[in-house]
Amino acid sequence: MITQYKNLINGKMVGTKDVLDVVNPANEEVIGQVPACGAEELNQAVSAARAAFKEWRKKPIEERRQVIHAISATIKENTDELFRLLTSEQGKPHAQAKGEILGASMMAAAQSMFDLDDEINEDTEERLSRTRRVPVGVVGGIVPWNFPVMMAVQKIAPALLSGCTIVLKPSPFTPLTTLRLAELIKDVVPAGVVNIITGEDSLGPLITGHPDIDKITFTGSTATGKKIMEGASKDLKRITLELGGNDASIVLPDANVEKVAEQLFWSSFTNAGQICVAAKRIYIHEDIYDELSAAIAEYAKNVKVGDGAQQGTAVGPVQNKKQYERVLELVQDAKDNGYKFLVGGDHDPDIPGYYVPITILDNPPEDARIVAEEQFGPVMPLMKFSTTEEAISRANASEYGLAGAVWTANPEEGVRVAEQLETGTVWVNEFLHLSPNAPFGGHKQSGFGAEYGKEGLLEFTYPQVITVKKNNVPA
Ligand code: NAD
Repeated sequence: MITQYKNLINGKMVGTKDVLDVVNPANEEVIGQVPACGAEELNQAVSAARAAFKEWRKKPIEERRQVIHAISATIKENTDELFRLLTSEQGKPHAQAKGEILGASMMAAAQSMFDLDDEINEDTEERLSRTRRVPVGVVGGIVPWNFPVMMAVQKIAPALLSGCTIVLKPSPFTPLTTLRLAELIKDVVPAGVVNIITGEDSLGPLITGHPDIDKITFTGSTATGKKIMEGASKDLKRITLELGGNDASIVLPDANVEKVAEQLFWSSFTNAGQICVAAKRIYIHEDIYDELSAAIAEYAKNVKVGDGAQQGTAVGPVQNKKQYERVLELVQDAKDNGYKFLVGGDHDPDIPGYYVPITILDNPPEDARIVAEEQFGPVMPLMKFSTTEEAISRANASEYGLAGAVWTANPEEGVRVAEQLETGTVWVNEFLHLSPNAPFGGHKQSGFGAEYGKEGLLEFTYPQVITVKKNNVPA
C-alpha cells in the first residue's frame, strides 16, 4: 500500500482530495502520495501563519530559540527513520542522507545562536536613537529537491528566531521527509508558526503572489528565481534568492596530484553532482593536467553508482526524470560534438531508475554546453589552462557567481586567486564547506541576498529606528 502523507496547517496534519505521487528515483516506483494543494489550502496556511504571527513576534527571543532547539533535537532523535526515507525519495546514498539529517539538526541549532539586540545610533544629551529589528511577518519558503530537509530547516530556523511565521513548500519531487518531519515537530511548535504544504510547481507562483505573505525565501534555479522576483515585485515583498551556479575550481601547477584527485572528484560528484556549490568546471594547469586527469579518472572507476539504499553505493541516481533527461542531453551533445570522454558516456536506458554513470570529459572547449551550462548531475568537464590569469578570467566568464575553489601548495597564492573570483564563496584547498556563521549567497545571477550567519537572519527583519528627542518633551 502507498503511504499517504499529510500537510501541517495550523498545528494539524491535514489531507486533500487530490494527491501527487512521489517516486523513488532508484527504481521509479511510487513510494508515497502527498496533498496537491491549491489556493484554498494556501489561504488556510497563510491565515494560520498570520494569526500565529501576532503572538509569536512578541515572545522573548529565548523562548523562540527553545522551540528551534526542540526542532533540532526532534530531527536528531529521529535520524534513522528520516535518513532512510530521504534516500528513498531523493536517491542519495544512506551515508549522505544521514549526513543531511544530522546536518539539518546541527544547522537549526547553530542558526538559532544569534541575538537581535537593539543598536544605539546616538545617545547624547539631545537625543537617544536606536535601531531595533522587527520581524518581516509571514514568510513563504520554497525549497528544491537536492537537499530537501537541510533547505527546509535553514529557512524555518531563522524565520522563527526573527519572530516571523512561515508557510513552507517542499519540491513536489521530494516532499516526504519534510512532511514526516512536520508530523514529528507539530507538537513542539505552536500552532500556525510553521505550516508545510505540498503541491505542483504551480503552487509556487500562488505563494509568491499571495497578498498576505510578506517575504519569500527561495532556493532553486535561476530561471525560477527570476519569476519569483517578478512576482514579488507587485507588492514589494522582501526576497532572498539562492540560485544556480556553474562553480569553477582552479588547480594551480604546484598542487599535489595524489592529494587533490580524490577531493576534486567528490567536490563534483557528491549527491550525484546535484549541489548548487559542487565543482561544475575544473581548470587544471597544463603542467599537471595529464597526470591529474588520469588520477581522477582512475579514482572514478572504483566508485559504485547505484541504489542509495544498497550498501557500497557511493553515487545514487539523478533525482528526477526531467533532470535525468537534461543530464543525458548534455552528454549526448558532448558526443555529437566529438568531445573526448575520460570516463563514462554510455548508459543503459533499460535499467529502471534515473542512473547516469560517472562521466568525465577531457578538455572540451569553453563554449561546450557541458562547460557553459550548469549540469547539476554526475558529469564533469576537466579543462587545461596555461596561466593563472587566464584561468581566473575563464572561471569568471559566467552569468553565475555562486562558489569556486582554488587548489595549491601555496595558500597565500590561493587567497590571491580567490579574491579575484566573482563568487559569494571561495574555498582554498577545501570544498563544499558552509559555515552557519558566514553569509552564504550568490553574486551575479546566482542569487539575491544571503542565508546563514547574522546577515542571513537580518533578512527576516526590518530595521526600525526609534528616535527620542530628550529636551523637547511637550509636557
Ligand atoms: P526549481 O527552480 O525548478 O524549483 C525549486 C522550487 O521552486 C520547487 O519547490 C518548485 O516547485 C518551485 N517552483 C517552480 N516554479 C515556480 C514558480 N514559477 N514560482 C515559485 N516557485 C516555483 O529548482 P530545482 O530544479 O528544484 O533545483 C535545482 C536548482 O536549484 C539548480 O539550479 C541549483 O543550482 C539550484 N540550487 C541552488 C542552491 C543555492 O543555495 N544557491 C541550492 C540548491 C539548489
